[in-house]
Amino acid sequence: MSTITVPDVELANGGTIPQFGLGVFQIPPDDTAEVVREALEAGYRHLDTAQMYRNEKGVGEGVAKSGVAREDVFITTKLANDAHGYDNAINALEGSLQRLGTDYVDLYLIHWPLPGKDLYPATWTALGDILRAEKARAIGVSNFQPAHLDRLREESGVVPSVNQIELHPLLQQEELRAYHRGHGIVTEAWSPLAQGEVLAGPVLAKLAEKHGRSAAQIVLRWHIQLGNVVFPKSANAERLRENIDIFDFELDDEDMRSITGLDAGRRTGPDPDTFAG
Ligand code: NDP
Repeated sequence: MSTITVPDVELANGGTIPQFGLGVFQIPPDDTAEVVREALEAGYRHLDTAQMYRNEKGVGEGVAKSGVAREDVFITTKLANDAHGYDNAINALEGSLQRLGTDYVDLYLIHWPLPGKDLYPATWTALGDILRAEKARAIGVSNFQPAHLDRLREESGVVPSVNQIELHPLLQQEELRAYHRGHGIVTEAWSPLAQGEVLAGPVLAKLAEKHGRSAAQIVLRWHIQLGNVVFPKSANAERLRENIDIFDFELDDEDMRSITGLDAGRRTGPDPDTFAG
């Protein structure tokens, strides 16, 4: 077992979340248990899945196979786009718990706001009840814009613990991150490596050479120093170990600024204001 220590980030509801983990989007269901087991062996203690990834069962099996105790692993899942609405959200979580083989998740998120459906406020009420029933230790959202977050705060008074958003050097989301800071919301960065798109290029190559690290490690370290929670996906045992090995070096201010210079406002995924699921 690895001895790497990943820092915890505090959540507004009083709990904590490991700042680094594994995302399992696009890992085939049949491969997921083994990748999760490998990751836990390499020191990962935070797993990010979703109902729409269809691999929650593999996540549960991987945890069970690993020998790591359930309470030592932070598991996030997300509500499917076709399960918005109060009753659907409650029932959808029951399905997740069954597939994951657990009686609680650490974090339950609304995956997309789907503003065209206009059901995210009712869905959020369900997540509040799930929190009170202790079936989720924390609740949050994903892909929410400031207008959606404002509406949740105004209508429910309950602020999400996290907002999981597309965030990487090509899309740095300064405005949304500032909103999160102002409201005590933890920023989670999805596609932290821009699905690998960001890794080529002279700026990262230079920093990689300076620190004797890979371009992926430089980008992940940049996220950590910004305070983002990250869970890069890899299904490859070597890259799993490479990605978590970022807690024994630091980027200086100039290094950080040179990565800031890569911002291009470029999304790799859908625009949350118009995405209809
Ligand atoms: P990432 O930015 O994590 O990139 C993953 C890609 O990069 C894979 O092709 C992987 O290949 C490759 N890769 C990983 N590590 C390295 C490395 N060290 N060197 C070179 N290539 C590498 O993209 P994801 O879209 O998977 O995002 C991560 C997680 O974010 C998801 O798994 C999911 O949990 C979450 N997410 C959430 C969304 C949301 O709407 N809330 C949307 C999208 C993602 P390989 O496997 O071969 O190593």
